[in-house]
Amino acid sequence: PAEDLLLEVNNIEVVYSDVILVLRGLSLAVPRGKIVALLGANGAGKSTTLKAISGLLKSEDGEITRGDIRFAGERLNGVEAHQIVRRGIFQVMEGRRIVSDMTCLENLRLGAFTRSDSAEIRRDIEMVYGYFPRLKERTGLAGYLSGGEQQMLAIGRALMARPKLILMDEPSMGLSPLLVKEVFGIIRQLNADLGITILLVEQNARMALSVASHGYVMEQGKVVLDGSAEDLANNEDVKEFYLGGH
Ligand code: ATP
Repeated sequence: PAEDLLLEVNNIEVVYSDVILVLRGLSLAVPRGKIVALLGANGAGKSTTLKAISGLLKSEDGEITRGDIRFAGERLNGVEAHQIVRRGIFQVMEGRRIVSDMTCLENLRLGAFTRSDSAEIRRDIEMVYGYFPRLKERTGLAGYLSGGEQQMLAIGRALMARPKLILMDEPSMGLSPLLVKEVFGIIRQLNADLGITILLVEQNARMALSVASHGYVMEQGKVVLDGSAEDLANNEDVKEFYLGGH
């Protein structure tokens, strides 16, 4: 094949509570080793798309009612969330969702719940500290970390699962411009150093397109535009609606 697609989402429809239709025939593809950005206004269905992939829809009474999702060629529809983690997909949730009454180290160990190779786990904890040195210095409860540190911990915890694909939901949320830059620098580095494929949902379209190779724009539950990150960054509609008109 021309491109090795790690993830393929084919024409999916997603319904919450049997009645609320949120995704209406959404399709996208993520090539192995790339960063792909998923953009769109609030409520377009970006988070729902990530949850459909990671299996987390079920816990919100959501269901894929049509279409299919394939990861490395295998169908993911109906697979339990923890099994999806075992297959190599880890979602970094919006709002970070770290366990606030556990330490950083305990949170990192949680990320490794599918693994039993303790020497390797210890080595990976050091690797995470290499990317996020501040986490090593914070020995108290994770609930007392700053917003930026919590985001770093959430990404670090994902790395502990040794994922092939990370789904990132709004990593810039609530962070100062300086921290946003730092976090995106690390996202780029993780992709380059470790070859991790990343599907990135972002309100900050400019930042997302600066690290991604390809992007999709969603409106009301489907893709309305897609292209190379460069083409999207220069697209007049994208500029007007998502890049603040500059
Ligand atoms: P945001 O950036 O605001 O999170 P989004 O593009 O990620 O936007 P989603 O969170 O996927 O959008 O939400 C898409 C639509 O689905 C919204 O109208 C939302 O109200 C609805 N929705 C999300 N979660 C649920 C749920 N658990 N039950 C019912 N409706 C939901």
